[in-house]
Amino acid sequence: MKVAATCAHCTAEFQIERGALNRAMRNSAPVYCGRECSGLGRRKWKSPEQKKAEKAAYDVKCRRKNRELLKRKKAAYHQRTYDPEKAAIERKKRMPRHIEYCRRPEYRTWKREYDRQHRAKKFYGEFWECHLLAMDIRAHCLTVQSDYEMRREKRTLNKTQQRKRDYERVIGKLPEIGPLGNLERCQGGQDGTGAC
Ligand SMILES: [Zn+2]
Repeated sequence: MKVAATCAHCTAEFQIERGALNRAMRNSAPVYCGRECSGLGRRKWKSPEQKKAEKAAYDVKCRRKNRELLKRKKAAYHQRTYDPEKAAIERKKRMPRHIEYCRRPEYRTWKREYDRQHRAKKFYGEFWECHLLAMDIRAHCLTVQSDYEMRREKRTLNKTQQRKRDYERVIGKLPEIGPLGNLERCQGGQDGTGAC
């Protein structure tokens, strides 16, 4: 059986089941004329901050739940509206800021290390760390001694040239350059290579 009641939000008279009204009165809960007033009435006492926080939490939940759908929608929108020429113009607008970003000392430090690792991985594969370590050791050694001093000490100065000469001495047919310069070579140059 229905009885008349007053809506707690819009204060209009409306009909409600007696059992529902009794239950609400027992719990000292308000009654509303419909879903709209119920929603508005429940939200009335919330502060704007609370409403925003609740909506943000709800949005996060929604996005997590509909991730695939949203991804598809965004991809479709991109396909529909993407114009490479316009996008290039937009990108160019950001270029001065990007240059400033790249000029920062901390970025340069980071980038130097990044490039170093990138190159090491590219050229030496799984042994990239060994390469970096070797280069570090080399850099440290060069602060102590110069390259010339090191080679002279190890007797590896002009190593390639020395080896070439040793090889020529053992295998090569040409006579060695004697104390009189190229004289001997010129005399023995029957194979046409003895150019003076
Ligand atoms: Zn109402």
